[in-house]
Amino acid sequence: MQSIYLDHAATTPLSEKAFEAMKPYFTEVFGNPNSQHVYGREGAKAVNDARQLIASCIGAKPSEIYFTSCGTEADNWAVKGAALQYQSKGKHIITSIIEHPAVYTTCKQLEKYGWEVTYLPVDNEGFVNPSDLEAAIREDTVLVSIMFANNEIGTIEPIKELAEIAHKHGVLFHTDAVQATGAVRYDVKDLGVDMLSMSAHKFYGPKGMGVLYIRNGVKMEKFLSGGEQERAHRGGTSNTPGIVGMSVALEEAMANLEEDAKYVASLRDHFVSRVCAEIDDIMYNGAKDTSKRLPNNASFSFRYIEGESILFSLDLAGISASSGSACSSGSLEPSRTLLAIGVPVGTAHGSIRFTFGKHNTMEQVDYTVDELVKIVKKLRAMSPLYKK
Ligand SMILES: *Cc1c(COP(=O)(O)O)cnc(C)c1O
Repeated sequence: MQSIYLDHAATTPLSEKAFEAMKPYFTEVFGNPNSQHVYGREGAKAVNDARQLIASCIGAKPSEIYFTSCGTEADNWAVKGAALQYQSKGKHIITSIIEHPAVYTTCKQLEKYGWEVTYLPVDNEGFVNPSDLEAAIREDTVLVSIMFANNEIGTIEPIKELAEIAHKHGVLFHTDAVQATGAVRYDVKDLGVDMLSMSAHKFYGPKGMGVLYIRNGVKMEKFLSGGEQERAHRGGTSNTPGIVGMSVALEEAMANLEEDAKYVASLRDHFVSRVCAEIDDIMYNGAKDTSKRLPNNASFSFRYIEGESILFSLDLAGISASSGSACSSGSLEPSRTLLAIGVPVGTAHGSIRFTFGKHNTMEQVDYTVDELVKIVKKLRAMSPLYKK
């Protein structure tokens, strides 16, 4: 029986190199990096080296890197921290309608406490229109948060242009770069963002580790009150093995970024062209221009059938994909992102996201298409909606 993992937007397997680098910090080198003795100094050195390495990977300074427990925490901190810090200036936030729940539900939560949020629409490929952002900025706007790349449809937003617009009006700009990091090369200074979130387990690093980049000079309310860790901005004993593993995984991802992206895109492109040629009544969701789309993402809606049924049949064939994002699957609500790009509700229910990774092979892609063709045909034959 085959076992084919095509859900790399949900999580990735841990890099062997990162795993090896982490091991000593679970055992011999266990000191608390804040302790004032040899054990503590060893831990502190590991954390500092990792901070330096991560900063150099994204064009930041080490003092701009804040370790968090996940991408979700980094997103919560960016949005809530800015909201609290600047509430005397205003209580208006701008985001997009297709954000990951880590940003979207954080904004929803702030609405309960008196903040106003504008959710920018997107076009039918998932792009935020920069002029919509410009028009939405008000006197009392304190933060714009727009994701770098969408986790469901892979669309890469024009972040540099959006950040420039926010800054022209004196508004802070945050981007959720959890899907982009390791897949798209960027430099935070060139992008011009004030804050950026990433998550290790999306780039072959360990689960439970994230970073919030905060540009020097940007004042942010702390998110976890506690000890003096992270320059007294995020309390909690440092996760030394996680931090080390994340830095090694990021360094590896950056070193091989173009090569990996090209390989993964070749798998995706072959998959997409075969699916489009061999299955009718489908929608290919997201950016059509592959230079504005994550290299690993293929999102399809199959008319007349349910995504959950396709997923179940794929699983039986040993293929692991996703019906929407892992964070919203399990709910029967159609995807907010797919509805936002104009996929009709019924069709949105028949959606599957395939996200490829560097360990996948062309043989796996071909096997997946062969199985998918059979599955769609079988399910449609049973569907009362399908009339061919
Ligand atoms: C996975 C993901 C997150 C959440 O990251 P975790 O580390 O799993 O909390 C946030 N935003 C996007 C776009 C993601 O894909």
